[in-house]
Amino acid sequence: MIWDIPALLNTIGHTRNQLYNDNTAGQLNYHWEDIAAALGMGNLPAESYYLGRYLIFDDQADKQKLIELITIEAEYLAETHYWKLGDVSLEQLALLACEELKIMSVCEQCDGLGFNRSGDDCSPCSGYGWKSYSEKDKYQFLGLDSKSWFRRWQGRYMDILNYVGDAAYHLREHLKQQLY
Ligand SMILES: [Zn+2]
Repeated sequence: MIWDIPALLNTIGHTRNQLYNDNTAGQLNYHWEDIAAALGMGNLPAESYYLGRYLIFDDQADKQKLIELITIEAEYLAETHYWKLGDVSLEQLALLACEELKIMSVCEQCDGLGFNRSGDDCSPCSGYGWKSYSEKDKYQFLGLDSKSWFRRWQGRYMDILNYVGDAAYHLREHLKQQLY
């Protein structure tokens, strides 16, 4: 689910902090290798594997691979849900998801839950559970106007993020098992 993304970002942040802390002992390379090895173990789905490498190592080749995998999913969704694409590039949609992952920060107000104590949408993060680009940033990135964003593409984009969220769930479970 999409809600696994904030939790994953917390896990990755924790992992990163550990790496930085351990760097004082001069063992950084060893630990990076450890994580790279952990990602390669077991049956991690390809999208989870590249998501992990992209978030942790920030490598361009991994990012490109992740974009390809998300684009394939977007093409599948477009076909099965009869999306009319117009001028929107699905690869650009995948790129937006990748870029957004990098700047998302877990909402401190609701701890990533997206709702407050009374069960209403958390207002600082508009119920997303994280802080990120504005809606305007997103539709402009795709070359859309606000009307077609809110009417069609926002929901489609959420479907893409759900796919990324599933990948995040598997990745998080995997890292938890392998590293902690
Ligand atoms: Zn919030």
